[in-house]
Amino acid sequence: MDEQAHQLIEQLAASHALPIEGYEYLVEHQSEQAARLLAEHARAQRIAIYGNEVFIRGLVEISSYCRNNCHYCGLRAGNASCERYRLDRSEILERVDMGHELGFRTFVLQGGEDPRLDDAMLCDTVAAIKERHPDSAVTLSLGERSFESYAALRAAGADRYLLRHEAADPDYYAQIHPADMPYERRMACLQELRELGYAVGAGFMVGAPGQTPRHLAADLAFIERFKPEMCGIGPFVPHHATPYAHEAAGTLEQTCYLLSIVRLIHPPVLLPATTALGSIHPQGREQGILAGANVVMPNLSPPDVRSKYAIYDNKAHTGVESAEGLDELDGRLQSIGYRLVVDRGDPRTKECD
Ligand code: SF4
Repeated sequence: MDEQAHQLIEQLAASHALPIEGYEYLVEHQSEQAARLLAEHARAQRIAIYGNEVFIRGLVEISSYCRNNCHYCGLRAGNASCERYRLDRSEILERVDMGHELGFRTFVLQGGEDPRLDDAMLCDTVAAIKERHPDSAVTLSLGERSFESYAALRAAGADRYLLRHEAADPDYYAQIHPADMPYERRMACLQELRELGYAVGAGFMVGAPGQTPRHLAADLAFIERFKPEMCGIGPFVPHHATPYAHEAAGTLEQTCYLLSIVRLIHPPVLLPATTALGSIHPQGREQGILAGANVVMPNLSPPDVRSKYAIYDNKAHTGVESAEGLDELDGRLQSIGYRLVVDRGDPRTKECD
């Protein structure tokens, strides 16, 4: 690691901010030594706030229908080979009840932008979850909706909303999305969610086609500015029926490097070791936790639909990536000094005693 990278890392760990050129320099000058130093600082700051606890979220993928055509996603409307399904209220509640018994206290309802997921059905389902499990949080991840829809869902009891910003650089955002998905609307949605009192999750892919260190630096600067309560960062993984079918996947190393940087930018952030990380490497989850992540989201969807929610190829949904594999996951995390907890896992602002 050169002297400048070393200084930038120490500055970031102390002040939680860098000029955009500093982030760009760190991305361009990634090295094993720099990654080690970043991860040491990231783990220390994560331990100070969250101890060695890892929060679990039960992920219920409620619809594989989507009206959009994001270039990177296997659920894109233009993919005629995608098997579509939609869970109804009772199927969702069944999975949530089962997850609650397993120890989940946060449920993430995720789906494509499916016009049939209307406010009435969603609000009713969210309210039912909150009524049956008042000790649990509900997170939604259903893409761009109207302000009125976000407001209705919040009033029904939804606590958090995940909407990856995908790319903070407007030109790069336009490169990986179709023309009918303007950058401005994505940014406005994030602001609206915050205004409505949701805990908001942003995030981006690592190693996506055409992505440069400058684009990633813009993402890091955005995280510094917006300070999302949650941040989902996973490697880009190609899907065979998208325009990016033949592009290379992002790497475990770069994803972990950026996880550490994000932890240092915003130490209280809830940072998942994503399924994509677990899908590209057998130790991906553990490596993500050791880089500073503190959340895992095992798959709680009905087993017969899991393979249909194929946003990228070879997405893991069994073993430690599934709700049924919690004991094995806990064992693997304990072997690296961490443990799963039964907890809503809300964002904390204060350091532990
Ligand atoms: S990324 Fe989301 S909005 Fe885009 S095509 Fe996939 S499911 Fe739809």
